[in-house]
Amino acid sequence: MPIKLGIIGYGGMARWHHKNAPRAGGVEVIAAYDIEPRMVKEAEENGLRGYHALDEFLADKEINTVLVATPNNVHKELAIAAMNAGKHVIAEKPVALSVAELDEMVAASEKNHVLFTVHHNRRWDKDYLTMRKALESGVLGKPYTIESRVHGCGGIVYGWRAHKEYGGGMLYDWGVHLLDQILYMMPCKVESVYARLFSIVNPEVDDYFKVLLNFEDGTIAQVEVGTLCLESLPRWFVCGDKGALHIDDFEAKSGSITCLNKLVTEVAPEVVDTPSGPTRVFAPPPEDAKSHLPLPEVEADWTEFYANVRDAIDGKAELIVKPGEVRYTMSVIEAAFKSHETNQAVKMSY
Ligand code: NAD
Repeated sequence: MPIKLGIIGYGGMARWHHKNAPRAGGVEVIAAYDIEPRMVKEAEENGLRGYHALDEFLADKEINTVLVATPNNVHKELAIAAMNAGKHVIAEKPVALSVAELDEMVAASEKNHVLFTVHHNRRWDKDYLTMRKALESGVLGKPYTIESRVHGCGGIVYGWRAHKEYGGGMLYDWGVHLLDQILYMMPCKVESVYARLFSIVNPEVDDYFKVLLNFEDGTIAQVEVGTLCLESLPRWFVCGDKGALHIDDFEAKSGSITCLNKLVTEVAPEVVDTPSGPTRVFAPPPEDAKSHLPLPEVEADWTEFYANVRDAIDGKAELIVKPGEVRYTMSVIEAAFKSHETNQAVKMSY
């Protein structure tokens, strides 16, 4: 059955969906509802049936799936209204502002026997898939530290994202993507979370944060987003017991892998004079102790998200972005907010 998509909130992201969702095949965007008349007019100009009223939009029988692309604070009520009208629902990220809100949404999907998922499109990002392929190939050995970061330098967080009441701030906005990526790939659970959030130039919301995740197997992951970082560090930095990787950019155009060929156990008897000063531990190892590899090649296509939703609705595929995984990410976000408030690591409970 083709997806006949109606979008709630015809803003920036909705237009991205309007352009990209049909590329999956079997997905047609047919209607949009927005509280702003100007946005409804633009939806109509872009070939959609425009609606100024939610009940009229939800009464449109041709729409079988609704995508909620509004500011974050109203995802819950709009998604539940759509599911109560018998529509399958895709919510934009962050799915909601708390685990409790998400639980209400999941209950509505179960009660109405409709599919419910979240647009975690960054599971298909090229940099992420490249990092995963390298990690899963074993060339890095067992990872002990994973760093994921996004550094921007504009500083100002625009529009509703700068306001707390709309669910603004970078932990909800980008943190949810970066955390979802790491939680989705790790083979074990997070044991505890420590986070610090800052409002550098945006007084109401976090515009810089650092979250540390301690995993049950001892791996530590750091997720960092800054909007006013005038110098930037790599998008990914991963160290394992057999190798290390860095990826500089979202397209994975720049980066490399260094592998350990042999562990040099013989240490010079005396302190060595090196460019980093007198040290033995950080003296450069012999050249043959390590080798360099290029980053692996991957195919990355965001439209797989829509194709999976289409097939999952038809019962032909397992849903990739599962509500339980979304709940896990939201619970880590809640722990990060709590950790910031208390300045303590927060133990996760499952
Ligand atoms: P936006 O401000 O550009 O658009 C939001 C639209 O929603 C506006 O047209 C606004 O008029 C409308 N709106 C507000 N309240 C409404 C309501 N109660 N009912 C109907 N319409 C309403 O915002 P955006 O950047 O498009 O972000 C929208 C959502 O998409 C957010 O949840 C955001 O986090 C998410 N997003 C996701 C990605 C991604 O990569 N997955 C990227 C950007 C934004």
